[in-house]
Amino acid sequence: MKVFNLTFVRSLSHVCSLKPYKDTKWLMPNGNPTGIYVYNCIANQRVPVILNDPHIATWYSCGPTVYESAHIGHASCYVKLDIIQRILKSFFNIKIVSAMGITDIDDKIIKKGLESKTHFTNIAKQYEHEFWLDMASLNVAKPLIITRVSEHINSIEKFIQRLIDNNMAYVSKNGSVYFDTDKFSNYGKLQKMQDSGEPSDDEKRNKMDFALWKSHKPEEPYWDTPWGKGRPGWHIECSAMVSKVFGSQLDIHAGGVDLQFPHHENEEAQSCAYHNIRQWANYWIHVGHLNVIGDTKMSKSLQNTISIPDLLKSYNADTFRMACLLTNYRYSMEFSNQLMETAESVLNKFKFFITDATIYINNNATSVSAVYSDHILKNLQKTEEANFEALKVDFDTATCINNLLTLLSDTNKIIKSDPCEYCPVPVTLIVEYIVDILTKFGLKLQESEDTVLSNAMINTIVEFRHSVRLNAISSKNYELLSACDIVRDKMKSMKVQINDSHKTPSWVITK
Ligand SMILES: [Zn+2]
Repeated sequence: MKVFNLTFVRSLSHVCSLKPYKDTKWLMPNGNPTGIYVYNCIANQRVPVILNDPHIATWYSCGPTVYESAHIGHASCYVKLDIIQRILKSFFNIKIVSAMGITDIDDKIIKKGLESKTHFTNIAKQYEHEFWLDMASLNVAKPLIITRVSEHINSIEKFIQRLIDNNMAYVSKNGSVYFDTDKFSNYGKLQKMQDSGEPSDDEKRNKMDFALWKSHKPEEPYWDTPWGKGRPGWHIECSAMVSKVFGSQLDIHAGGVDLQFPHHENEEAQSCAYHNIRQWANYWIHVGHLNVIGDTKMSKSLQNTISIPDLLKSYNADTFRMACLLTNYRYSMEFSNQLMETAESVLNKFKFFITDATIYINNNATSVSAVYSDHILKNLQKTEEANFEALKVDFDTATCINNLLTLLSDTNKIIKSDPCEYCPVPVTLIVEYIVDILTKFGLKLQESEDTVLSNAMINTIVEFRHSVRLNAISSKNYELLSACDIVRDKMKSMKVQINDSHKTPSWVITK
């Protein structure tokens, strides 16, 4: 495991303090180590997570620009961030004070408003409302604090004014305000210098300078400031809103990897300049893209988007979350039916196991094998330890799921052995552990009360078919057996998959 050397960084931090604003290295925060290591793009390796209070972390995610429906690219980003937050809370006992910024003032929102003759604020409200519904349908927890640009214009104005006063920003001829990257020698921390995509124009002193404030254009909304009418640029909003809520320091800043540069670079630069500090966000968590088969990023402009409601018509939220769990959050995820079928198959393995094990536990005992119990309990303990270690190293959920599948497979050998070894205590503990860890990852394995009645009906059919089938086998009645197969196939088409392999039948709902 490649990790940051604690002693080395402490001494480095000391040396750095002698020459402020002269390097772009990651600085280890003072505080309490949590035992977690997370990849940091500034250090270009995993670094220890150190918090002021080891049980509280401040967290900010860049939210959506609300001018269109969210697609599954957004879904994978926010589901993966939700999984990481749940891991921090449930496995490491860290309270997350989560905030998300909603970009409700933007060129695209204003354009859409003008095109549809609707006030831009109504466009923003409509898509923000839809966004939260989509997130709820994916079981993504809502942030505790929601900040909207339209509600923070004063904070943004104050932020820009201080940068102008400190000579870190300048007002251009047309009344726009730019951050002066030439005055900030640490620019290029998150991604070593490259073209930011910012256009070169006569208004700017340097090509890399970015707009903090955009001067007013006819028919567009504007706000009055000491330097003229206009509206905020994109990058400034997150820095101003975070500073309003969390002050001059942020523990974790998260978002899609496409935001790393220039958006997060610019956030870090202007925040360090505003607060006169050397490091603003201590940890950057960047989620890899979701690609639609091949190498293409999913985006509206490429017309290859799948909306979240459309996704949920084909697969349920648990299946999508399992696909996310099987991929390291940092890497891109190749979305395909094959990926989703793999995720569904893994999910079904767990569901079948829980059903089979429950039947096994409630079976009539003939003997108890203490030796076997020891073996299974040790297996459980080993898996628990391995999973905790995996989560400590950059939230490695894929390894956790694999460890769980190995535990499941080993336990299945005992459950399905013939003659059957009966050891309900360790098997009960394993079922409890598997349900617990999957629930902590945000999967909803439990049935809702609404489904209890339909489940009872399915049970009746499945058990009736089972006894008919046993009779047909013993009497070699092939006509009746064929009828049983038809029932099984019909049930499958109604998303009820019957498992005949066990002495007692079991079933799962698929989607
Ligand atoms: Zn942002």
